[in-house]
Amino acid sequence: KTAITVINPQDKKTSYHDIGGLSTEIARIREMVELPLLHPEIFSRLGVDAPRGLLLYGPPGSGKTLIARAIAQQTNAQFLNINGPEIIQKHYGESEEMLRKVFEEAAKYPASILFIDEIDALAPNRETVLGELEKRVVGQLLALMDGVTSRGRMFVMGATNLPNNVDPALRRPGRLDREIPINPPTKAGRLEILKIHTRFMPLAADANLERVAAVTHGFLGADLAALCREAGMACAREAGTGIQQKPLFVHFNHFLTALSDFRLSTM
Ligand code: ATP
Repeated sequence: KTAITVINPQDKKTSYHDIGGLSTEIARIREMVELPLLHPEIFSRLGVDAPRGLLLYGPPGSGKTLIARAIAQQTNAQFLNINGPEIIQKHYGESEEMLRKVFEEAAKYPASILFIDEIDALAPNRETVLGELEKRVVGQLLALMDGVTSRGRMFVMGATNLPNNVDPALRRPGRLDREIPINPPTKAGRLEILKIHTRFMPLAADANLERVAAVTHGFLGADLAALCREAGMACAREAGTGIQQKPLFVHFNHFLTALSDFRLSTM
């Protein structure tokens, strides 16, 4: 596995319809990203700097990667995805070089979104970090960010669970200067997410997703996706033992089984 994943816009489709409970966040992010990517000339005519980056913060599994991917898709931008800890750990001593290459690669496309997951690993607060290497990597990332506008239509999205661990210099104007919280979903959000992940599932009439949403407080998008998968598995197991007759339907009790397994595995 390499540290950089390049996904072509036409490869795997991710649309806004695949993301539940985050419509306000998506609208805000689209506002910031679409204009600079699709109409950079507007900014140059106005003589103002186009936004170059933003920071998404929230717990892992809440949909940050999903949003970045969907926006790339919708703007026909090349999506490049790197992971902070991977760059640091696997390319120790060469991290700066790796970063430079990634930015170079991103600048090759007419439009691109560079998504840096767990960016706090690449740009930790320099006041609290002592290592020379870490300081150099932060410095390199800042320099690369500052070079972005002159290189074309590129937008950088950083994601972190720990926004306060990110070096403040990276959060200054001209860098990742917009910050969007990606919070755990509300009950209505959970319902949207459950609907997305049961789209292709034959649901029985008693499989009331509102009830499932009501009892999954604290579940993130990734948890709900796993829950739906497990409900399907519970149904499949029954089918395998002949308890359920064909045609197969996923019932509310399958969600309950999944839920109890889920609670056990995360306790
Ligand atoms: P990480 O920081 O670990 O990368 P993340 O916040 O980027 O986490 P994603 O990778 O986007 O989370 O989510 C993982 C999976 O969970 C997605 O592929 C999707 O199946 C599901 N998921 C997460 N959030 C949502 C959501 N809001 N709506 C629908 N599915 C979601």
